[in-house]
Amino acid sequence: MKLNLPKVNIPWNLNFVIAVLLLYLIGAGLHEFGHYMVAKTFGQDIYLTFSGGDYGIAASPMHDIIVLIAGPLVTYSLLYLGLFLLLFSMRFKLIGVILVFLSGFQIFSPFDEAQIFSILRLEPNLIYLYKIPLILIPFIIAYLSIDNKRKYLSVGALFILSGLFFGVLIVQVIDGTFFIGPLKEGAIFPNIFGINIYMIVSYITALALFFGIYVQYLLPSRKEARK
Ligand SMILES: [Zn+2]
Repeated sequence: MKLNLPKVNIPWNLNFVIAVLLLYLIGAGLHEFGHYMVAKTFGQDIYLTFSGGDYGIAASPMHDIIVLIAGPLVTYSLLYLGLFLLLFSMRFKLIGVILVFLSGFQIFSPFDEAQIFSILRLEPNLIYLYKIPLILIPFIIAYLSIDNKRKYLSVGALFILSGLFFGVLIVQVIDGTFFIGPLKEGAIFPNIFGINIYMIVSYITALALFFGIYVQYLLPSRKEARK
């Protein structure tokens, strides 16, 4: 059987890297915003940061579960949106590949879903029974479509890059030091509607930079699009 997958070249340069990191930040923000919207709808007291924050006290375990589901639901949607763009859009296929890898990377963190399983009194590790196939299938398709020579290096670099950027810089250093540690809950910067102002500012900046400037580095040039 011969698979007819699109061919995507990962254009390694500084502008591309910045575009990927911005997209990653936006994707992670949308995940948290998913939790936020639902918790807010239930009238919970929220404190939101990039890596989670505090969704307050739910009125019932069911509310808790719905708030927890909302984040992964956003990220799974981004993953499959990425797969769709990769397979069906010449113009957005590179964005598709990046979304597949970056959302998959985020989904791999077990926190939300493991929590849901604990509330349901199920073994939390059972999440991997469905998580792994749900992530692996788009991953394999995205991996096979990469046209670069040593594609494992490109994929590895994407993971390391986003892991260092998000996991270390954003979560450990920025969130960990200033917003989730002893100084949390708006001690330094106030919250607006339960979202820390630093997140709002960073998020608006990221959106403006991404859609204003950097998205072009994830789109094919006109010449390339005709190939
Ligand atoms: Zn979450």
